[in-house]
Amino acid sequence: MSATEKISIRVEPTQQSRLSQVDFNNLKFGQIMSDHMLVAEYNNGKWIDVSIVPYGDINISPSLSALHYGQSIFEGIKGYKFADGTVSIFRPDKNWERFNKSAARLQMPEVPEDIFIGGLKKLLEIDNSWVPSLEGTALYIRPFMFATEAALGVHPSISYKFIIITCPVGAYYSKPISLKVETHYTRAAEGGVGFSKNAGNYALSLYPTQLANDEGYDQIMWTDAAEHKYIEEAGTANLIFRIGDKIITPHGDTILHGVTRRTIMQLAEEWGYEVEQRKVSVQELIDGIKDGRVTEAFAAGTAATITHIDRIGYEGQDYKLPAIESRDFSNKVLEYLNQLRYGKIEDSFGWNYIV
Ligand SMILES: *Cc1c(COP(=O)(O)O)cnc(C)c1O
Repeated sequence: MSATEKISIRVEPTQQSRLSQVDFNNLKFGQIMSDHMLVAEYNNGKWIDVSIVPYGDINISPSLSALHYGQSIFEGIKGYKFADGTVSIFRPDKNWERFNKSAARLQMPEVPEDIFIGGLKKLLEIDNSWVPSLEGTALYIRPFMFATEAALGVHPSISYKFIIITCPVGAYYSKPISLKVETHYTRAAEGGVGFSKNAGNYALSLYPTQLANDEGYDQIMWTDAAEHKYIEEAGTANLIFRIGDKIITPHGDTILHGVTRRTIMQLAEEWGYEVEQRKVSVQELIDGIKDGRVTEAFAAGTAATITHIDRIGYEGQDYKLPAIESRDFSNKVLEYLNQLRYGKIEDSFGWNYIV
């Protein structure tokens, strides 16, 4: 299929919607999937079949190459329902671009816009009533792709499945979190796959995160692989600090380039803050907390938008951050994005993709 050829999507509607069984006032993250999913098959250089089918199990071979050699990538996006019933997805074009960067790094095929964005639009038209409308709720969208060749041997698979599943998620009130600065384990190194959203990056984080949990911290603050001196990111979110009058975030190919981070940095610039994307050393952060120049610190990601950080542990010492109520930048960002995504204020940046 060439880039210009329009893809046709076959639709097989469910005979039995599960919608009436769902308690929308009591949604647990990632537990209940919407009625349909999009499944696209790639074989031997071509996308050969794209269909929207009832959500359900898929058959896999025990020799499925993704299971053995890890060609597996994903995205996380949210869709929202406005008061008038309009369904809007937040910046899916950025997720599509990032997905294809992840794919390229893992020697997987790129997914064309027709399938990723076009398929998502069609899926949400069909599962429109699964997008919850209560204040603070959203439809979490999970596109992913994995290698499906049924053969052992380390080589790029000749076949892949691209799938989109979605699930309604409840209002996400995130409590402030504590982070442990990780000075032994490493998430990503220069030249590695830190910038890609591939499954292996999460598997490797589980053990060190459990150790941090055992010490009483919610998550890890990853540092650079070479020296453990520079801050990278948190478990599944980017880190942003307000130091003096500047809004600062670590930069480089060892971190995931979050859509939320990009959005927040753009807002900060618009609002007249001085913005810096650069290396931030752990020492700069600790010194700044001690002398009061670090006034805000938060994790940024699609799941919770902003999660305030209230405590940082480094080399056996705990450092407390200022009261949440005093953090005017991050609180303003959260308020602004909440209004924007539910269509309550003008979308001056064109970030809402209307289905
Ligand atoms: C998904 C993710 C983020 C946040 O990215 P968003 O596009 O803002 O959701 C940050 N770090 C890691 C490791 C992630 O997996």
